[in-house]
Amino acid sequence: RKDQEPSVQELYEGVLKGDRSLLARAITLVESNAEQHFQKAQTLLQKLLVHSGNAIRIGITGVPGAGKSTFIEAFGMYLCGLGLRVAVLAIDPSSKLSGGSILGDKTRMEQLSRNQRAFIRPSPTAGKLGGVHRKTREAMLICEAAGFDVILIETVGVGQSEVIIRDMVDFFMLLVLTGAGDELQGMKKGIMELADAIIVHKADGPNKQKAEQTKEEYNRILHFLQPATKGWATKAFTCSSLTMEGVNDIWKVIKSFEQTGKNSGVFNERRKIQLREWLYSMITDQLQYHFYHHHGVKDLLPMMENKVIAGESTVATAVESLFQTFLSSHE
Ligand code: GDP
Repeated sequence: RKDQEPSVQELYEGVLKGDRSLLARAITLVESNAEQHFQKAQTLLQKLLVHSGNAIRIGITGVPGAGKSTFIEAFGMYLCGLGLRVAVLAIDPSSKLSGGSILGDKTRMEQLSRNQRAFIRPSPTAGKLGGVHRKTREAMLICEAAGFDVILIETVGVGQSEVIIRDMVDFFMLLVLTGAGDELQGMKKGIMELADAIIVHKADGPNKQKAEQTKEEYNRILHFLQPATKGWATKAFTCSSLTMEGVNDIWKVIKSFEQTGKNSGVFNERRKIQLREWLYSMITDQLQYHFYHHHGVKDLLPMMENKVIAGESTVATAVESLFQTFLSSHE
C-alpha cells in the first residue's frame, strides 16, 4: 500500500546510514517507471547530492564470455578484503531492446553478493523519462551517498553501451581474451580508444603464456592509438580471476590513475564534462519523449511518413508541420 512506502526523509536517513534495505528501496524508487515516483526520486536525489561523488567509478566491458562477472566477483572480493565497500551496478543494453537480458539471468557473483561490504544491483529496465542510463547514474549517486568507496559498472560490449558507460565513469577497462589474433585485428579501434586499461583475462594454466603474448600485441597497437584520458598511457595487463594473479596490480593501476588525474586536474575536469553531457542528454531524452507522446504529433506522424515515402512531401516540410503541431499546443 502507498502509505507503507518509506518517506523521502526515511530513505534519505537510511541511505546515509548505509541501511541496505532502504538503500535498495531508494534505488527502486529512482528506477521506477511510474510518473508519480519521478518527483519523489528527484527530491531524494537532490538531498543526497552533496553526499555523493566520493567513490572511484569504474566501468568494465567485454564480450559475453570474457569473464566479466567472474572478474567482478574476484576483484570485488579483493577490494572488500582491503576493507573497502563495493557497489556493483550494470547496464544491460539488451533489456532496452527485447525485455530480455544478457546480464541478469544467470546466478552471478554468489560470494560477493553475500559479503557485507558489497552491494550488487541488477540492471534496471528501460522506460520513459531518461531510460537505463539515467537510472544507473542516479543509482550510482545513491550508492556514493551510502558510503561505498568503489562503484563497478558492468556492461556487455555490444556497441553503444560502451560509450554510455564511458561517459559516467572515471576509469574504464576492457576485458579481452587471449590468442585471438584475428579478433584483435577486427576489434574496433574506437573501443580501444575508450579504455584506460585493457585486461587480457583468464591468464592461467596453459593459457598464461599466450596471454602474455596477447598483452604485448595489445601494447603494440595501443602505442598508435589516442589515449582515452589525457596524461594517461593506456596499457594492457594480464589477470586471472581463478588464481587471482594480477588482480591486485589492476587496483594499483587504478589508484595510480586516480592520483595522476587528481594531481593534474584531469580527473575532476572529466566529471564536470560528464555532468554537462548528462544535462544535455537528458534534455534530448525529454524532448524526444514529449514530442513522440504529443497527441497531435502522434496523429499526424503516420500521415507525414506516408507522404514522405510517396514522394509527396520533402522531409523538411514534414518535420516543419510536425513541429508546428507540437509547438502550437501543449498537451
Ligand atoms: P561474462 O559473460 O563476461 O560475464 O563471463 P563469465 O564471468 O560468465 O565467465 C565465462 C566463463 O569463463 C565461465 O565459464 C568462467 O568460469 C570462465 N572464467 C572466468 N574467469 C576466468 C579466469 O580467470 N580463468 C579461467 N580459466 N576461466 C575463467
